[in-house]
Amino acid sequence: MNVQTRLQHGLRSLESFVARYPRALMGSLLALLGGFGVTAFGIAPLVPGSENLPQQQLVQSLGEAELDAQLAALAEHPLGLLRHDSTRPGDSADSLLSRLGAFDPEFAAFLRSDGTARQLLQGRSGKRVALEASPEGRVQSLVARYPVGVAELASTHFNRLLIERDAQGRLESRVELGRYETETRLASGEISSSLFAATDEAKVPDAIAVQLAEMFSGDIDFHRDLRKGDRFSLVFETLIADGEPVSWGEGRLLAAEFINNGRPHQAVWFQSNEVRKGGYYGFDGQSKRRSFLASPMEFSRVSSGFAMRFHPILQRMRAHKGIDYAAPTGTPVRNVGDGVVSFAGRQNGYGNVVIVRHSGGRETLYAHLSRIDVRQGQRIEQGQRIGAVGATGWATGPHLHFEFRVNGVHRDPRQLARASEAVKLPAGALQPFLAQVDMAKTKLQVAASLDIGVSGLH
Ligand SMILES: [Zn+2]
Repeated sequence: MNVQTRLQHGLRSLESFVARYPRALMGSLLALLGGFGVTAFGIAPLVPGSENLPQQQLVQSLGEAELDAQLAALAEHPLGLLRHDSTRPGDSADSLLSRLGAFDPEFAAFLRSDGTARQLLQGRSGKRVALEASPEGRVQSLVARYPVGVAELASTHFNRLLIERDAQGRLESRVELGRYETETRLASGEISSSLFAATDEAKVPDAIAVQLAEMFSGDIDFHRDLRKGDRFSLVFETLIADGEPVSWGEGRLLAAEFINNGRPHQAVWFQSNEVRKGGYYGFDGQSKRRSFLASPMEFSRVSSGFAMRFHPILQRMRAHKGIDYAAPTGTPVRNVGDGVVSFAGRQNGYGNVVIVRHSGGRETLYAHLSRIDVRQGQRIEQGQRIGAVGATGWATGPHLHFEFRVNGVHRDPRQLARASEAVKLPAGALQPFLAQVDMAKTKLQVAASLDIGVSGLH
């Protein structure tokens, strides 16, 4: 069967299923249909001209086998009603259960009193809940999935809280550690107002947008260099908990191309026996990690939107010997390269200012800060937070004034990162690296050809 036939076949079996079963089940069926439709939609544009495409993966992602299995499982189920929702801030046992279509005072009391079950409504909201109830609303089982609190496990595992009835109908609870699966996705977009507006439109999670900015942080100053019409293509991973993509998960950006002002930049994530600590590399094998960052501004949703809107003002401010970044007071400011704090305190026009001494007679200066987070003499690393944007000293409004000096002479800060040293990949790692680059190129090509948004590749 080809893709089209499978799709029709799947839809037909769904239709006949819906006809055979009571209305009560429509909620779960519609959810199922929704997921199915989205997958099929994402795949469709990939089919023509597919000689270089990873076909096997595409076919898998239709998942008709799982669909059949799910339909069969649903059909055999003893009239259970399966509903999904997420916990919300301020949820009580009653409000959650009523949203999930259950009425069960005994279960609600258990949620309030049982030490393990209580975790469902404690701590952060946004836990994904699947609940199974009888047609009368009596809860048969509940499963909730949410992040683990332990940092070392956060990227690989999630919590699975289970509440079930035993043979006597008594409720019991337990928490298990589940292991994430990953799913590869492709996306592409074009910048019109800000990076986040574009990644939102392409349905790319915030965490991936930030990783994109970090990936090219030695090449592109995402606060100053972005241009309308810049384009990006991405290959990234999303985390899947028991078959469902999670909204809280970070996932990893695996490869990207960013065309900035007509100039393409590419990078791929690479990790091997020789390079245990994974990192981003250009397609030429040069590490993306440079001795200096292109921007002292931490990239975030707030600073992203601000940067492009205020660009004309920044141009006018450039008369003096530095670069100004307009940003709301409190926006984090970071150190651009490893060094030692040579000054942290107040100076006339600069207001609260931090000066960092780097190797080779180089110095960077960060002025008008609302807050200083480092002290004089402290050794600090690249990317470390040194304070926050403010309007202290001679500043007309909140902004960061940033200077770069070599042996006391002012230089254009934009030259700083571009001229800085890059690390090269060890020779032994080159073969596997080039193979990975080839794969990344193919996927990026596919991503770039997508008309809109994102596509799933399992
Ligand atoms: Zn200034």
